[in-house]
Amino acid sequence: MIMGFDPLYFLFALPGLALALLASMFVRSRFAHYSRIPSARGLTGAEAAQVMLSRAGVREVSIEMTNGFLSDHYDPMSRTLRLSPDVYRSTSLAAIGVACHEAGHALQHATGYALLGLRSALVPATNIGSTLSYIVIAIGFLLQRPQFILLGALLFSLVVLFAVVTLPVEWDASARAKVSMVQAGVVTVAEAGDAAKVLNAAFMTYVAAAVSALLTLLYYLLRAGVFRRDD
Ligand SMILES: [Zn+2]
Repeated sequence: MIMGFDPLYFLFALPGLALALLASMFVRSRFAHYSRIPSARGLTGAEAAQVMLSRAGVREVSIEMTNGFLSDHYDPMSRTLRLSPDVYRSTSLAAIGVACHEAGHALQHATGYALLGLRSALVPATNIGSTLSYIVIAIGFLLQRPQFILLGALLFSLVVLFAVVTLPVEWDASARAKVSMVQAGVVTVAEAGDAAKVLNAAFMTYVAAAVSALLTLLYYLLRAGVFRRDD
């Protein structure tokens, strides 16, 4: 039995895939829309993040430009905000929203927000667990050994845990951004509402990833016979 030909797999994989695709289209369309609307004060994304961090008294974070589309992230190891060109240079509400969201992660780090630390700590284990799980599960399906599929499912549960821990971290970073951009005078209240629409759309991609991971785990557990009653 090869996983790809199992109709049950598609039943579990398709909702997650569809949700991820929809969320990705949603965030791209909202980002594109609010990329055309400049803020009144005219700060770039990089400047907005800098103002927000300075006002919060966070000085040790540097802001750099990085390549890619929506590749923006905060690197806790080097305490660096890396903003994509479309966010770094642009004065649009979309750019300011994304930049301030990333600054929100830097604020989480500076204030010792525990879940950010947990998420960072989970990264190496999640990467290993993810790779190993696919190998072990493939062996389990090839050799028809449910024990291997179960072991793979346990390894894959790290991926689920990471995706679930990511949700409050991302929500909190956006919540900090929504409040701080107004308090720091980067945007008006109305503008912050529009910038928040981009961030809310971005949050949907994390929800989709978590749902997708959870459904995949359920599928593995099902194939491992965990839900079987007759034995
Ligand atoms: Zn984030």
